[in-house]
Amino acid sequence: MTSLARKPLQALAFALIALATWTAPPAHADLCARGMAQSPINIRHAVTQKLPPLVFSYQSGPPAIANDTHTARVRVSVPNRLRIGDQVYRLEQVHFHSPAGEQIEGEDFAMAAHLLHKGTRGELLALEVLYRLGAPDPALQWLLPLIPAQADGDHRSADWHFDPALVLPATRGYYRYTGSVTAPPCTQGVVWVVMKEVRTVSAEQLAAYQQHFAPQARAVQDMNGRTVVQSP
Ligand SMILES: [Zn+2]
Repeated sequence: MTSLARKPLQALAFALIALATWTAPPAHADLCARGMAQSPINIRHAVTQKLPPLVFSYQSGPPAIANDTHTARVRVSVPNRLRIGDQVYRLEQVHFHSPAGEQIEGEDFAMAAHLLHKGTRGELLALEVLYRLGAPDPALQWLLPLIPAQADGDHRSADWHFDPALVLPATRGYYRYTGSVTAPPCTQGVVWVVMKEVRTVSAEQLAAYQQHFAPQARAVQDMNGRTVVQSP
């Protein structure tokens, strides 16, 4: 009798523990510290594959520019789409980082642009453009004087027009891997598309950007068995 009574109780206890473990979302700190598929990474040993081309349907539109304390963020209200194979993604925003964080074969980059896209089922795709020091960048030249001095929401002007295609490099070769959002909550399952062609930013532009945002980048994360693929 006692053993019969105890077994259901034990089963119930195990079920409750299992349910608690399953329903408790991992704390942000946990995913950021212990997630197995985090970004940025050092891109190396990329495996060449016949990847679908990146087909951009970007167009110029009136932008909303914001200083969100950590970055300058640009949103365009007109629809901008990226098609990769049979997947279609909508561009949500463009923002910048300095330094980039992402590395290629151990090389650090002065800056990165992140073009964040959302798929039809809400899946996240981050397209990254890297910058090394060199000639001034025209898109940054346009943006830098317009960055709001304070984090006070979106700024708009009838005089402003922004075509996100101006942020893209001339060639469309890319790396791809699965990673995460690079700041808390460090959400995983983000498809990272990193353009192979690197743009340039001048020292003056970098200094102007860093007047707003102190240099900060997340350290490169362990691959934990992930593979980077690349277009030929
Ligand atoms: Zn970013």
